[in-house]
Amino acid sequence: MTSTFLQDLIEFIFPRKCPICGGRLYKGEWICTTCLSRLPYTLYHRTRDNRLEQRLKSIAPIERATGYFFYSPQGELRPLLFQTKYYNHQPLARHLGKLMATHIKSDGDFFEGIDFLVPIPLANKRLRQRGYNQSQLLAEGIHEVTQIPISSDTLLRTVDNPSQTHLTNTERWENVKDIFAITPSTHERFEGKHIVLVDDVTTTGATLASCIQTLKKAVPTCRISVAVLAIADLE
Ligand SMILES: [Zn+2]
Repeated sequence: MTSTFLQDLIEFIFPRKCPICGGRLYKGEWICTTCLSRLPYTLYHRTRDNRLEQRLKSIAPIERATGYFFYSPQGELRPLLFQTKYYNHQPLARHLGKLMATHIKSDGDFFEGIDFLVPIPLANKRLRQRGYNQSQLLAEGIHEVTQIPISSDTLLRTVDNPSQTHLTNTERWENVKDIFAITPSTHERFEGKHIVLVDDVTTTGATLASCIQTLKKAVPTCRISVAVLAIADLE
C-alpha cells in the first residue's frame, strides 16, 4: 500500500475537521472554504505605508512591513492560532505561512530582493516546553512558496518575556529590552543583506522593535522588513 492510499484511508475513517467551524475538511484543505473566505484579511501587502508599517516605523528602522490578518480575541482567527500554539498542530502553522506567502506574492512585490527569512526565536526553555517555534513553521511555509532561505541560527532569545497583555506601553518596552542576542555568524551573513523577520502575532510591535534594534546595532548595513501572520489592536 502506498502512503497516499493509507493517508486517504485514515482521512476516510477519521475525517479531519476545520479548526474554526468544526466542519469536515476535504483532501488538501486545512481550513474549510467557507471559513477561509470569511477570515479578516488586512490586504496590507497591497499598500505601502500601511498602518502596521507606520506603527513599526515610528519605533524601529524598517524598510517595509505587512500583516496578513486582523486578530481580535472574539474573532475567527483565535481558534486557528490557539491550535498552532498549544495543540501541536504544526502542519496547520506551516500551511498558514504558505497561504500568506501565496497571497502576498500573487499581488505585490513584498518578497522581491529579500535575502533571508528570519523567524523570531523563542527562548530555549519555552522551545523545550512547546517542542517547536510557530514562527519557524510560518517561515517554512513562506519558504515553500518564495524559495527564500531561512536563517534560524543568527538570532537568539535570551529572555522569555512573560505576557505583555496587562502592561502599560512603557512597561512593555522595559519588558522586552535586550531580550535578543546575535550569534557569531550574524555579521558575515547579514552584512548588506535585506531580511524579513517572521512572527505570528504582534500587538504594540515592542518585541519586534527590540529584535530590530539588536540586529541593527550588530549589523548596521542590514536592511530589515517584517511579515507577521496577525495584527492585534489595529482595526
Ligand atoms: Zn470551517
